[in-house]
Amino acid sequence: MKPDNFPEDVRPFVIPKPSGDLCYRCLGCGEEFSITELLYVCPSCGEVLLIEDRDIDRLKAIPGTTWQKIFDYRRMLKIPALKGIYRYHEFIGPNIPLDSIVYLGEGHTPIVEANQRLQERAGMRFFYKNDGQNPSASFKDRGMASALSYIKYLIDQDLASDIIAICASTGDTSAAAALYASYLQPHIKSAVLLPHGKVTPQQLSQPLGSGARVFEIPGVFDDCMKIVEKLSEEYNVALLNSKNAWRILGQESYSYEVAQDFEYEMKDKAVIVPIGNAGNISAVMSGFIKFFNAGIIDALPKIVGVQSEHADPVFQYYLESDPAKRQFKPVTVKESVAQAAMIGNPVSMPRVIALTNRYNALAGEQRVFVTQVTEQSIMDWQLEANRNGHIACTQGGECLAGLVEALAQGVVTKDDTAIVDATAHAMKFSGFQELYFDKKIPTAFNIQSNPDFINYPKLVMPEDTSNVPGQGTPLGEDDFKRFAGDVSKTIAKELNLKTSL
Ligand SMILES: *Cc1c(COP(=O)(O)O)cnc(C)c1O
Ligand SMILES: [Zn+2]
Repeated sequence: MKPDNFPEDVRPFVIPKPSGDLCYRCLGCGEEFSITELLYVCPSCGEVLLIEDRDIDRLKAIPGTTWQKIFDYRRMLKIPALKGIYRYHEFIGPNIPLDSIVYLGEGHTPIVEANQRLQERAGMRFFYKNDGQNPSASFKDRGMASALSYIKYLIDQDLASDIIAICASTGDTSAAAALYASYLQPHIKSAVLLPHGKVTPQQLSQPLGSGARVFEIPGVFDDCMKIVEKLSEEYNVALLNSKNAWRILGQESYSYEVAQDFEYEMKDKAVIVPIGNAGNISAVMSGFIKFFNAGIIDALPKIVGVQSEHADPVFQYYLESDPAKRQFKPVTVKESVAQAAMIGNPVSMPRVIALTNRYNALAGEQRVFVTQVTEQSIMDWQLEANRNGHIACTQGGECLAGLVEALAQGVVTKDDTAIVDATAHAMKFSGFQELYFDKKIPTAFNIQSNPDFINYPKLVMPEDTSNVPGQGTPLGEDDFKRFAGDVSKTIAKELNLKTSL
């Protein structure tokens, strides 16, 4: 629809103009810094930053119900820059002009209600949000669209040029970074650091295919992260990990979409997300806070962060009920099928602490929770979900396992409706499914294969195994008739088919 045809009250706002007064704010000392350069940590105290809009109260001049209409009408626009996460431009990156925005099809991922059978098994009503249906098949594209749009904006303003973008990754960050950087050639080149053997072959193929320089390093993600931190401190590179606060901004779009897709009714909703480096849960909290403060939603949903027992530093931190006694201690991770979240020292921990406090204070009660799940439950719930029409990755299985655990503990109730995050596409993690079916998951994972889930292809041969079609060697008519008869008979027998003749 063309903007001229929109109702009068939304027409002036439907195409956003650059606005706002963004700055980096340090979560340690509170100091503010200009966004004219890329900063990852506070130049004064070294803590992580969040991007704040000092002029955010201007958004309150528009009533919440009008904002709802603006976003709903923007759905009908044909302007690429507003088709993705920047549908929420004023809340994502109000300073970015539309012609600097990079749009590769990210965001607005489907929210799919689980079927009756799966809801009964889980014990309550829930939906999956399929963030694996993003361009590089994980939610990381949301943050990358934001970070790369900001970098493109710097380039367009002549504030930066010839950028080398780097990141450490458990697989999906590098896939997304390499994809977006390759789109912005020749201005940006990307290099990614991966823990050797701790990224799936599908994930590894992504930055390779996008033409990034790929470096594999012995150790785990936490080791790679230290190296990119060192590189970003000592060399002129653009860090694309979620330490980069622009990533967090982009990932807030997840919350905005959940709000919009449920008609902005967030009461009795519970949003379930996995926690790895904790950028995502930080963004999800921050997004709901902004919509709440702007009057676009009138309740804050519960948020449940989920961690595997093999990588659970955030869970361990919140085990201590007395906030004064809480002390963050990194953990040494063990093997996890939720490999994308296998992180022992999350970079965004200070953001989690600050935003959880802000969120609960705003809600007037505890609304943010962290649960811990077993590796067995992660794998079993992933397979169960996918047997019921979903495309959940292992982290999506982790989330569903976390929902079941949260329900058992009374953190969520049957009166809630849950939105469970399938953070990546199942296909990226098919290797774990294969190991499970082959009963070959290494013992360090502590997972037994449930025979009910195991599934294999069956090779069907005719009686005369020497007379079969091959590549470039088709069978003659009579031979093929015999072949088709034999094979269909075997399949019909396997499937217990009744004859219709
Ligand atoms: C990165 C990632 C996570 C963890 O998100 P954080 O922001 O690091 O907490 C979970 N699932 C998938 C598929 C990921 O790629
Ligand atoms: Zn500081």
